[in-house]
Amino acid sequence: MFGNLTMPVPATASPDIPLIEIFSSLQGEGLQIGCRQVFIRFPGCQLDCAYCDTKFEARDICRIETLPGNGVFRHVSNPLSLFSVIDVIDGWQLQLPHQAISITGGEPLLHAAQLSAWLPVLRQRLPIVLETNGLLTPQLIELRPHIDFISTDIKLPSVSGQADLWGQHEAFLRELHPLEGQIKVVVSAQTNPAEISRAAQLAGAYAPHLPLILQPETRAGVPSVSGERLLEWQCLASRYHAQVRVIPQMHPLLGLL
Ligand code: SF4
Repeated sequence: MFGNLTMPVPATASPDIPLIEIFSSLQGEGLQIGCRQVFIRFPGCQLDCAYCDTKFEARDICRIETLPGNGVFRHVSNPLSLFSVIDVIDGWQLQLPHQAISITGGEPLLHAAQLSAWLPVLRQRLPIVLETNGLLTPQLIELRPHIDFISTDIKLPSVSGQADLWGQHEAFLRELHPLEGQIKVVVSAQTNPAEISRAAQLAGAYAPHLPLILQPETRAGVPSVSGERLLEWQCLASRYHAQVRVIPQMHPLLGLL
């Protein structure tokens, strides 16, 4: 269950923020898979993961679906005001109920200073889901009171191609309590199983209340790891964490955004 919503907060002093896109779709990953959500994608990311398929570079324009889920977009100039985003969400809610607003990227915590003004207002409309790469701890602490569900990553160096981020992930995991959510680990044919053990140890030690999701990388629409291997890795991770689940991405199967 989501936590209680906050009292109304005036949006008058909220800063404008550049956005990539706003659209309505089904959540395609993890525990909330299949839930209808409003997605607000923020620009920028401090990483460059080998499997990244997201366009997160900041642009002069933001694209916004004309109707929830119709795949047709209008374009507006960046940055956007909080009022204009609320207008979109309120209009969509009259047409179709959404379960939550997904704050995604890129890495949305790069915009924590502005989001600390936006999230209390957005949260008056719908619960807030934050999708993050799980590295920016001070920003998490700043926004934590305004988040209802967090989806945070642990990046395996053998899969992401990124440097050793274990220390940063540990610091982040230590601050997740009492949030609800999930910890996501992308695995691929390149995965070093010792890194799965290490991720599960960290998650089990610092956030045992959050399920650990092993998500196989998707290539050409299909998971890049065999079911047999996933069973093996789920067993491996379960030595250190009591709630390990294997959940593939749904969007490539359905051809959705
Ligand atoms: S953290 Fe996410 S958005 Fe950033 S490069 Fe990696 S996959 Fe892409």
